[in-house]
Amino acid sequence: MKKAAPWFYYPAELEAGKSGRLSDEEARHAAGSRRLEPGDALTLFDGSGVVADALVVAVGSRGRDVAFEVSGTHNASSPALALHLACALPKGDRLASLLDMATQLGMSSFTPIDCARSVVKVSENAERRWQRILIEACKQSRRPYLPIVRPATRPQVLAEQCQDELWIAHPGGSRPAELSPEAETSLTIMIGPEGGFTEEEVDAVTAQGAHKVSLGAGILRTESAAIALLAYARLAFAVDA
Ligand code: SAH
Repeated sequence: MKKAAPWFYYPAELEAGKSGRLSDEEARHAAGSRRLEPGDALTLFDGSGVVADALVVAVGSRGRDVAFEVSGTHNASSPALALHLACALPKGDRLASLLDMATQLGMSSFTPIDCARSVVKVSENAERRWQRILIEACKQSRRPYLPIVRPATRPQVLAEQCQDELWIAHPGGSRPAELSPEAETSLTIMIGPEGGFTEEEVDAVTAQGAHKVSLGAGILRTESAAIALLAYARLAFAVDA
């Protein structure tokens, strides 16, 4: 079987015949770890659904400069149901794994939520670091849509403004299989911090029409709960091609 061409992020217009250069970071990956050479195939994606077949035409500056030419492009189909994750931040590496796995599962956007019992806050240079994790996960899993990161917000405020079907994970709620999204285009899944949501938060969010969802008797860590529900929703409602 022919080896699939590796994916690289190119957030600019992609069209047949276009020549361009990868960003420094992507060039290092292409020429360094992937050892691509002139004539090798690569796939480019712009993060918003355009995917291009391209060929490496030159590698210069000791692997820091990779020039390509696009042979053709296509628009990826968007998922049947957009999955948004609104989640309290777990600590350190667990946050990186959460963002990586959630992206592989097709998360459309990520909103950090600031709960009464949240311990971790969004740090100053988080955005750039998170962006790198999201890009790498898209490349690895061949996902043409880069998740959007939204500003941190409180669960009550998110619920007030949310137009989607909204599920809040909290012990004692319905089993996900008993629910199916009424809003047919998007589902927001809300997950609390290690200390859990307060009853006031759950009441305020359900008063806005959110469904309380249970993941069974055991208590999962924030990131495991997020991944369990995203995986369920993706397989049950949002399977793409
Ligand atoms: N300390 C809390 C648990 C928090 S777990 C307690 O002992 O109850 C972190 C978050 O993961 C929760 O706020 C919830 O959103 C989700 N979660 C974990 N296990 C869950 C379960 N069994 N059912 C529903 N949500 C769960």
